[in-house]
Amino acid sequence: MAEILVLAEHSGESVKKVTTELLTLARRAGEPSVVWTGAGADAARERLAEFGAAVVYVAGSEDLDDYVVAPKAELLAELVTQHAPAAVLVASTAEGREVAARLAVKTGSGVITDAVDLSADLVAEQSIFGGAIIVQSKVRTGTPIIAVRPNAVAAVPEPGAARVENVSFAATDAAKSAQITERVVAERGERPELTEASIVVSGGRGVGGADNFALIENLADSLHAAVGASRAATDAGWYPHQFQVGQTGKTVSPQLYMAVGISGAIQHRAGMQTSKTIMVINKDPEAPIFELADFGVVGDLFQVVPQLTEEIRKRSD
Ligand SMILES: Cc1cc2nc3c(=O)[nH]c(=O)nc-3n(C[C@H](O)[C@H](O)[C@H](O)COP(=O)(O)OP(=O)(O)OC[C@H]3O[C@@H](n4cnc5c(N)ncnc54)[C@H](O)[C@@H]3O)c2cc1C
Repeated sequence: MAEILVLAEHSGESVKKVTTELLTLARRAGEPSVVWTGAGADAARERLAEFGAAVVYVAGSEDLDDYVVAPKAELLAELVTQHAPAAVLVASTAEGREVAARLAVKTGSGVITDAVDLSADLVAEQSIFGGAIIVQSKVRTGTPIIAVRPNAVAAVPEPGAARVENVSFAATDAAKSAQITERVVAERGERPELTEASIVVSGGRGVGGADNFALIENLADSLHAAVGASRAATDAGWYPHQFQVGQTGKTVSPQLYMAVGISGAIQHRAGMQTSKTIMVINKDPEAPIFELADFGVVGDLFQVVPQLTEEIRKRSD
């Protein structure tokens, strides 16, 4: 069966959800081999096996931890030369896309980014122009490199052997030109990471001020959700920029997206329109966001959100 390389996204030994999604897609097209960079592979092996990894290539070299993305692209290029896989899958995160682009140049291959689905014959689906158009594309040159949007598909377990193969790797000097000198762990509290969360509650200009974002946070916490924001809200300084959803912010694709006081500008839609279920709270029944909504409440968020939060808390007690 054709080998498909999957670059693992992980935080230490903890396997990120998107890696299990990539494994699920890789199994459609062949046999997945995980490429694990840095430490933590021993503890993660069981989780990778649960989602069908046949092989885990472990490259524990410090070059992969201490420098930015270039060494990862070099490692993948070496593995592509050695194993001639049918495709390479990475997560369509900022880092994943950069690795994909560098790998494409190194291997002379075509690359597809921001895929939301993948067929057994490696046809990737992308959702573009704010979701107005679905594109199906296939790489025709070299080894297909496909970056898949986190949360785009549901991860499905299927046992695999996850046989570990250690890989020795030394990055070139050119790949080591940008070194990581310090790491600062962002304080995130208890909330899930925005692009990985199953539920996202986002607030927009309708929220009316930084202090009022407590309403959005309370609703999010009642659902164990991540908090997002429109650009109007982040530009106004009501919520930090790293939580902006949209064309120039994060792309999310959760099971449930709640848009509160957001009008639904095309640039906002571009970051959330592949969410599985969309719920809207807006006082304007003509707001364009209702075109996307599976459920909508026409009402003042200052009345609707506290009642909704209270009701959810009652039901989850
Ligand atoms: C190049 C470019 C890139 C951009 N990138 C992004 C991006 O990444 N993300 C993004 O979000 N935007 C982006 N924008 C901005 C985008 O065009 C919109 O301006 C922005 O999304 C509007 O944010 P909003 O919906 O919160 O505000 P508005 O459009 O002002 O909408 C506010 C909504 O709140 C409702 N409302 C008001 N009060 C209440 C209330 N009390 N109760 C209930 N509802 C209420 C109103 O009816 C209205 O629908 C970009 C723009 C450009 C030009």
